[in-house]
Amino acid sequence: MWDLIGFRNELKELVNIDSDSTDRAGVGQIGQILAGKYRNIGLHVEAFDDYTCIQAKSHPEADFDVLLVGHMDTVFPKGTVRQRPYSEDEKYAYGPGVADMKAGLVMILHLVRKLRETNPSLRICIANDGDEETDSVLSYEWLKELSGHAQYAYVFEPGRTGNGFIKSRKGYVGIEADFRGIAAHAGNAPEKGASAIKEMARWIMELTALQNLAAGTSVNAGIVNGGTSPNVIADHAKAYFDVRVQEMSELNQIKVKVQELKKNISVLGVTVDIKYSGEMSPMSPSQETRQMIEHITKKAEDLRMEIHWLSVGGVSDANHLAGWGVPVICGCGPCGGNLHNDKEYLELYSLESRLELMYQVLADMPF
Ligand SMILES: [Zn+2]
Repeated sequence: MWDLIGFRNELKELVNIDSDSTDRAGVGQIGQILAGKYRNIGLHVEAFDDYTCIQAKSHPEADFDVLLVGHMDTVFPKGTVRQRPYSEDEKYAYGPGVADMKAGLVMILHLVRKLRETNPSLRICIANDGDEETDSVLSYEWLKELSGHAQYAYVFEPGRTGNGFIKSRKGYVGIEADFRGIAAHAGNAPEKGASAIKEMARWIMELTALQNLAAGTSVNAGIVNGGTSPNVIADHAKAYFDVRVQEMSELNQIKVKVQELKKNISVLGVTVDIKYSGEMSPMSPSQETRQMIEHITKKAEDLRMEIHWLSVGGVSDANHLAGWGVPVICGCGPCGGNLHNDKEYLELYSLESRLELMYQVLADMPF
């Protein structure tokens, strides 16, 4: 009852177009193809930035019941398709972005085609962004505006092997701490110096002490550098921290600590500059998200499908959506693995069951 041959043909068409996040022409080509298909099923399509962001709605109203999200970019540079285009064997499909997440894009299309016939009153909005793999910096404002009109969201990142769905993703922030001190001869005039390294060492101890693995928080000082010679008091040092959290309150606590440390520099004469980068809210299950999890689990049981729920450390658009307060489930696409490397594969045998499950989930909304 699902057109799996059509599915694979449409997937092949999309995989065989290079569309890494910086290749705006390639991403826009994917956008144009999808926009055409959406128009063919009667959706109202709006395209932005040369089709690198598109939205397609089933109804003209601003608000909708469900937002279906899929990114059109991949991590594979232009030329990858020439080296290893779409291919299949009896169980798997291969090619750049085949699972992450061109199969998810085609899945959304097939689901909406069917839902338009069976559930014409369900108000659907599809959002396709073109820079998810570079943290959706360009599509951030657009996606945020759109999310304000959504009641629920499903992100069609690949399901994980064994029918996995993603219920939570950690939040992230990078911290770059740049210390400036005063250089002096360590033997002749130590009293004249202010050691940037000594201050940095204190920060490393204080910040990594906030690591709390039981709460899902990790703090790593992954790169440090500074100083010029053992006999010189260092006038410069720099540390890069990687912070992952399960709860937003943990992220805030770390930022408060940074402010405290900055206000109370212990080595007189040292100053510090702080830069935060790549901040992402954690996607952690809210009350409403738990209802979505129950809903999907129940539908899977009805279909006698075994699924499992995963918490992962990596980030996706689902982090943004959760941060904006939209109940969201991630990993709703067909299953695959070896994401972001040249062994990436899509489980062809997961297509039909995942289509049917997500169809049942969406056809029975809102719950
Ligand atoms: Zn992805």
